[in-house]
Amino acid sequence: MNLQNPKKFQMLIDQAHETALNVLRPISRKYDKAEHAYPKELDMLAALLDGMNESGEGVGAANASKRGTADPDAVVNGGNMSAALGIIEMCYGDTGLLLSMPRQGLGNSAIAAVANDEQLERFKGTWAAMAITEPGCGSDSASIRTTATKDGDDYILNGEKIFVTSGERADSVVVWATLDKKLGRAAIKSFVVPKGTPGMKVERLEHKLGIKASDTAVISFIDCRVPAANLLGNPEIDVAKGFAGVMETFDNTRPLVAAMAVGCAKASLERIKEIFKDQLDPDYKTPYLQTSNLAAQIYRMEAEWEAARLLMIKATWMADNKKPNSKEASIAKAKAGRVGNEITLKCVELAASVGYGEDELLEKWARDSKILDIFEGTQQIQQLIIARRELGKSSSELK
Ligand SMILES: Cc1cc2nc3c(=O)[nH]c(=O)nc-3n(C[C@H](O)[C@H](O)[C@H](O)COP(=O)(O)OP(=O)(O)OC[C@H]3O[C@@H](n4cnc5c(N)ncnc54)[C@H](O)[C@@H]3O)c2cc1C
Repeated sequence: MNLQNPKKFQMLIDQAHETALNVLRPISRKYDKAEHAYPKELDMLAALLDGMNESGEGVGAANASKRGTADPDAVVNGGNMSAALGIIEMCYGDTGLLLSMPRQGLGNSAIAAVANDEQLERFKGTWAAMAITEPGCGSDSASIRTTATKDGDDYILNGEKIFVTSGERADSVVVWATLDKKLGRAAIKSFVVPKGTPGMKVERLEHKLGIKASDTAVISFIDCRVPAANLLGNPEIDVAKGFAGVMETFDNTRPLVAAMAVGCAKASLERIKEIFKDQLDPDYKTPYLQTSNLAAQIYRMEAEWEAARLLMIKATWMADNKKPNSKEASIAKAKAGRVGNEITLKCVELAASVGYGEDELLEKWARDSKILDIFEGTQQIQQLIIARRELGKSSSELK
């Protein structure tokens, strides 16, 4: 593994960085205050991203797939890594706004991860949210109660989904539902439900601590009929394979959430270094034990940040190269989520009143960062998954 960012992605990184500074940062506070208002400034940006995708540059959530390369021996840096590198820079700008980007939803990554070729073509260009969480079912996603009942050429969905990011704005929602509760996790499948499908209703939007630019919806499904062809991947219930089908989604999305945490923390870290630039040695020539306590704390944060970034890059590289990466995706998400929270809060602490006030974005980044250690599996759940993989235990053996 080469530890440098691939040269071919440098232009993408630079463009995303400029966008973060010139488009996202200037409207960051505006949409932190105007919760639930749609950031219309993003429309043009999304069109630009679409253009880059059309030209084959392959950026964004929909490119984070496990398809890899036709040559099994080739080592590639592909869509997962480019998506993550772009996301770092965009979250350096604003995490809530990145989550509000049209056609860049977590549902898009879900489609990229498990859809068949026909579905990939049909859902190309859609903006897809992802709906797993229900009242009474968050971390334990195997216990979802939303049902999908086959009826002719359709499935009929019934249930309620909560905390759906982009649930109101997206063109469609990827909904997890069970075909047969008795068959447990193997019977859970995901369905693309287009906005406006009769029986699907956005009940309300949530008010939150951070990422206020991003809408978070409660959606009900009452006798909601979707074509059977909208079931993503294989409709068979393979009890031996268990949860694997829909769970593959997380192998792609968790590294991207880790990238968000890395990007958000980078914003805080850079700002704190700017605030204290007169007290830091820019060339790192002063031996660690002779630095000030302030500098030592900042260097420690930099080291943790770099470790999180490298673990995240490794998980995306494995996905690009079709290597099983469930454990590494969880390691990256656990490390980046935790370190991201620690760094953004520590930066508020170091800048004290300046860090806590609204003249700076440091307090906002600390609020925004918290969700990145919660959604797509909390810190504790990632650690549980890692422990299961290390110890060779199943989910029923280690809960
Ligand atoms: C802003 C926001 C956006 C979201 N977006 C989406 C989305 O787009 N789609 C979606 O489906 N969901 C989304 N979620 C939901 C999110 O994924 C869940 O909140 C998360 O999975 C945790 O579930 P929970 O809130 O029910 O907490 P619980 O599962 O009730 O957990 C509560 C606490 O117990 C801990 N815990 C639970 N089980 C264990 C265990 N076995 N061992 C140790 N500790 C445990 C957890 O880590 C946590 O600290 C979003 C949530 C928020 C707040």
